[in-house]
Amino acid sequence: MSGVCSALAAPLLAWYDSGHRDLPWRASPTPYHVWVSEIMLQQTRVEAVRGYYTRWMEALPSVRALAEAEERVYLKLWEGLGYYSRVRNLHRAAVEVCARYGGALPADYEQLRALPGIGEYTAGAIASIAFGLPVPAVDGNVLRVAARLDGDFTPITDAKYKKAVRQRFTALMPADRPGDFNQALMELGATVCLPNGAPLCSGCPVQHLCLGYHHGSAAALPIRAAKKARRIEPRTVLLPRCDGLVGLCRRPPNGLLAGLWELPSLDGHLAPDEVRDALAARGWQVDKLLSLRPSKHIFTHVEWHMTGYYVELSQPPDGLTFVTPSVLRTAYALPSAFRAFLSVIEEEA
Ligand code: SF4
Repeated sequence: MSGVCSALAAPLLAWYDSGHRDLPWRASPTPYHVWVSEIMLQQTRVEAVRGYYTRWMEALPSVRALAEAEERVYLKLWEGLGYYSRVRNLHRAAVEVCARYGGALPADYEQLRALPGIGEYTAGAIASIAFGLPVPAVDGNVLRVAARLDGDFTPITDAKYKKAVRQRFTALMPADRPGDFNQALMELGATVCLPNGAPLCSGCPVQHLCLGYHHGSAAALPIRAAKKARRIEPRTVLLPRCDGLVGLCRRPPNGLLAGLWELPSLDGHLAPDEVRDALAARGWQVDKLLSLRPSKHIFTHVEWHMTGYYVELSQPPDGLTFVTPSVLRTAYALPSAFRAFLSVIEEEA
């Protein structure tokens, strides 16, 4: 980053002070509130997070409450947010904070950074917003703003670029308001300097400092290194029913959606006869097999392209746990990848 931003803080903070979004976690930015909200906001839109955040704080109002919560409770509160390793790390870190720091998050960037699931950005957000420490919080939104302000075509995915931006913002940060400075940058990225070639420059408080705007390159920025294409995985998902109950199984303890409940599935897109054969080979006694509408789910590195079958069984086979549709809805956290296949039993829940 060049020096064009040295006058950034004053107009940015004045704009932030003149009105910003009313977000539930901003009402009382305790370390716990900032932490949980920042983890929820990773990869998820603010509007989607509001309800999750409120329900979470009602059920688990403190680090200690989270540390003592059962797995099924925090997984259920997270259901639909995806990236379940985030909630497992939240719990793991809460246990560690209770054991090492008496239940209070440490007011130290390095100690925060050492907790499970807390990276540079989250540690910076907690340190600056909750503790007033002069640490930057640089995520993809802030990198986009930085690249446009400087009219810089270096890929923002470049680690050296990110390091330079962190150093630059650390130097620019007003000593008395580091948390507001970081939040103002985030707010600018979220509401004005929008992604996908659509910055709203006419309403931008730092337009006069922005090289991207003055060079006409803002909409083309930022540059990202090309991503590897996602792997496509065809799957055949089963909705097993037996005596009105629904059959579930658990995913392996490691890898994608580790340890979560799921609907059983088979590799590939299978025709009805192939499904019957595969299930007979497992000892399942199939009374009825009905096709369900196909569905697709996108993860970070893989896409599941799923066909589905409703499978009526005469006996519950080994390896599945059978629950009523209403218990499934209220007590089991099922990844949203399977939601489309559950719509046929929605009225029963
Ligand atoms: Fe972003 Fe436009 Fe503001 Fe520059 S002028 S920071 S491109 S919104």
